[in-house]
Amino acid sequence: MLRLLRTSADRDHGLWSVLALLSVVVLVPTVCLLWFMSAAMQNERLAVREKLAEAYRAHLAGLEARLEMHWQERLRTIETQPAATAAERFAFLVRGGLADAVIFGQSNSGPGYPDSTPVQEPPAGDAGAAWRAAEQLERSNRDLEAAAAYRVIAERSPTIDLAARALQAASRCQARGGAKRDALKILTEELGQPRYRLAADGRGRLIAPSAQLLALEMIGDASRPEFRRTADRLRSWLSDYSLPLPSVQRRFLMRQLLDLDPGAEAPDTLAAEELAARYLDSGAARTPDLVRLSGELRDVWQLASADGTVTALFREGTLLEQMQAVLARQELPADTTIELLPPGGVSQRVPFARLQARGRLDGWTLAQHLERSNLFDDAAERQIAAYGWTGALAILLILVVAGMIVRLVRRQLRLTRMKNDLLATVSHELKTPLASMRLLVDTLLEGGEEDRQQVHEYLRLIAQENVRLSRLVDNFLTFSRMERNKQKFERAEIAPDELAREAAASVGERFAAPGCRFELSIAAPLPPILADRDAILTVLLNLLDNAYKYSEEQRHIVLTTYAENGSVCFAVKDDGIGLSVRAARRVFERFYQVDQRLSRRAGGCGLGLSIVQFIVQAHNGSVAVDSQPGKGSTFTVRLPATQPARRPSA
Ligand code: ADP
Repeated sequence: MLRLLRTSADRDHGLWSVLALLSVVVLVPTVCLLWFMSAAMQNERLAVREKLAEAYRAHLAGLEARLEMHWQERLRTIETQPAATAAERFAFLVRGGLADAVIFGQSNSGPGYPDSTPVQEPPAGDAGAAWRAAEQLERSNRDLEAAAAYRVIAERSPTIDLAARALQAASRCQARGGAKRDALKILTEELGQPRYRLAADGRGRLIAPSAQLLALEMIGDASRPEFRRTADRLRSWLSDYSLPLPSVQRRFLMRQLLDLDPGAEAPDTLAAEELAARYLDSGAARTPDLVRLSGELRDVWQLASADGTVTALFREGTLLEQMQAVLARQELPADTTIELLPPGGVSQRVPFARLQARGRLDGWTLAQHLERSNLFDDAAERQIAAYGWTGALAILLILVVAGMIVRLVRRQLRLTRMKNDLLATVSHELKTPLASMRLLVDTLLEGGEEDRQQVHEYLRLIAQENVRLSRLVDNFLTFSRMERNKQKFERAEIAPDELAREAAASVGERFAAPGCRFELSIAAPLPPILADRDAILTVLLNLLDNAYKYSEEQRHIVLTTYAENGSVCFAVKDDGIGLSVRAARRVFERFYQVDQRLSRRAGGCGLGLSIVQFIVQAHNGSVAVDSQPGKGSTFTVRLPATQPARRPSA
């Protein structure tokens, strides 16, 4: 195409400006597009990174909301735990792993847990006098007598509490009086009975569990069966939170039991009891947010209900573990991990995206890490490839459109040039015969005594010029009608041989000139054809005219008419200058001339053969050329015959 453009540009300077304009139209957007693409590709990595980070931040916000919900649900579970007493709720929550410790404040439904030590109550009524007497004996070191007095109180006691206290005192006195066995028996066998389980001393402490601890101290040897029995009994009481054991006493007994029996497993609520006690001692204010405690308890977080009646305590490790379990249940983007950092926590790695949590988790950080560093590179590569393809397509489109514009402009330029040529040719062609006719007429007018023969000769020449002029005008008219698609053919059945003879007669005089040999050959029989007589005559005359025009001084022109495969053929053969293969392919194009100067001189305007082809095709026929440069040409017109060949009439 470039080569064609270049040759066109050489021929027509106007094309240069069009080309320059086109280059601007093509080059500017192409350069802009390439610049934009390279800039876009450079920015793509950053953009993809930013886009991914944004998407991940949105994801982190989702995770934060999920954690917030987790703590809300957790608090609701803790608040609404259905159990009879605060102590039972404490045990249930701690054992269920829902908190490391829980503090229930005193409420309408009962006392809180862990509780404060109850106020001491004085012993009541009659028992008071007997008790004081027994105490008097005990103070006077009359231990066994005191023990007996306490026993009497126990036996006569109307309440289980007093009876238990009396038995406890009796065992104490017997131990002091040396009757250790009896003392132990009271502690284990009597106070170990279920009916004393709920007996409490004046400060609300349960007597039986304390009695079991005393018994263990007295037994001493952990390997003795009665030690084991007693320790097991005590352990089961301590882990029974339906027993109204004050938390201080429970904690104390648990710790003591562990000291006496170090081989045994620590009670499962001991750590929680101790943590709760430390929290209560610290006097920390309760907050509904998840807040880290300070001082000794800085490793512990508290979460209190809105009304402050329940406070859950969590060690930081537990907190992290639980939140990580929540996160592990969430769907994470491929090849990413989430790190949860408590306030002040620092990540070992630089996170790809991070989010400072708000609300209950205020101060915590959610960090998202990429496990595959080339993750966003891949995404960027994909996007860059998409840009590349789009850019390439856009450039291709620009080139195609530019190509189409070039074609269009070339066609327009060629048409303009052809029209200019046509005008010039028409003027020239009309001028020549008109001038020669005027010269002949002037000569005739000026002359006086010319002989008849000379006058006849002049008139013949004038008639010849007239014919030429008419043919020229006919051609122009046909072309004009052809262009406007207005050409109408009046078809009739005609004999081809007649047509050939008529054409031969038309050119007869001209072709009879010296140096020209014309032959007419008709291969009868010939079928008739359905055609417009004048139009086919125009075809034959154009071909004969060309054969004459494009031959050297010595001409040999043959018009042959024959039938072949249901068609009638008219072949015009000359031994003139001939045509190259390329020219032969183009001779039927409008305004095409192999050598413009030669054609001009010969009186042509590049329309003859295009008119021939138009007429022949309108008659459902075809025209072809067989030619060799320097050897001559044969133009063959084929027209469909209407019926089988018949003998020509004589
Ligand atoms: P023009 O009026 O120029 O003759 P035509 O359409 O009749 O236009 O012919 C187109 C061109 O084909 C001519 O300019 C000439 O170069 C070439 N041509 C036509 N007929 C012949 C022929 N018989 N021998 C050689 N060249 C021919």
